[in-house]
Amino acid sequence: MKKTLFYGGFAAAAALAVSGAVVAQQTQEITYTTADLGSGVYMLIGAGGNIGFSVGDDGIFVIDDQFDRNAEGVLTEIRKISDKPIFFVANTHWHGDHTGGNAKMADEGALIVAHDNVRKRMKTAQSIKGELMPTALPVITFSDSSTFHWNGQTIHAFHQPNAHTDGDTMIHFKEANIIHMGDTLFAGRYPYIDLKSGGTVDGYIANLESVAAMADAETKIIPGHGPLSTADDLTALAVVLKDAKALVKELVDKGMSEDDIVAADPLKAYNEKYAWGFITGERMTRTLVQDMAAKATDE
Ligand SMILES: [Zn+2]
Repeated sequence: MKKTLFYGGFAAAAALAVSGAVVAQQTQEITYTTADLGSGVYMLIGAGGNIGFSVGDDGIFVIDDQFDRNAEGVLTEIRKISDKPIFFVANTHWHGDHTGGNAKMADEGALIVAHDNVRKRMKTAQSIKGELMPTALPVITFSDSSTFHWNGQTIHAFHQPNAHTDGDTMIHFKEANIIHMGDTLFAGRYPYIDLKSGGTVDGYIANLESVAAMADAETKIIPGHGPLSTADDLTALAVVLKDAKALVKELVDKGMSEDDIVAADPLKAYNEKYAWGFITGERMTRTLVQDMAAKATDE
């Protein structure tokens, strides 16, 4: 039941982002869960992408802010932990289930920080929808990395190229040994790799491996969706994705069409464990095929 809740909001936002379809307003009540990860860092699960936040003498530093429609609820939950001002909101990437609360956070006085491409993609999405919301856009952007010295932590925000999108940022609380990975990790599930936003399968796998390499057995990893994870979870998912890619490639190399590959169901051994409402076995297969086709065109 909880699993459906964590991922359900994501699917709605992604559908909106991808197709522009009108998604019915969810009226069900949102259950929030806040976990204390130590060193003043918390993980907040509600609707949409998982939030991380740091509290302390300097004020509040927030990572991602779910949807516009539950921004008030998110604030209420954060306020249960600290009533200090919110100074910064870092966006892990541009999707609406991670940036939807930006305008509300900016109203509260927060400066929104993200990779250059997050601002670009949010601006484009706003103009396509005809809803200009300048206060929702990041006001501080970076191309590679940025470091915050805040609440006694060294918070290293660094870009990883072309994984879930082309604007992904990992946020590493060095002393606390906590990393928020945004949607470069869907815990224990097939990931959504947004090819239309610059995501790639190889970039996704490379990022899982590089974050696993910088983590140790104690590192707490906040995924974009799903429960708190470990370096071993990253390695396990990378192994699945590499094998899934190889299984699909075998059929692509035989010259089979995308639909024929889907019909052959090359990921059947993994689907029961890893497929879910938004990324079914079929969708994962199509993503792998389309990613390979895009790479072939590039070469
Ligand atoms: Zn996303």
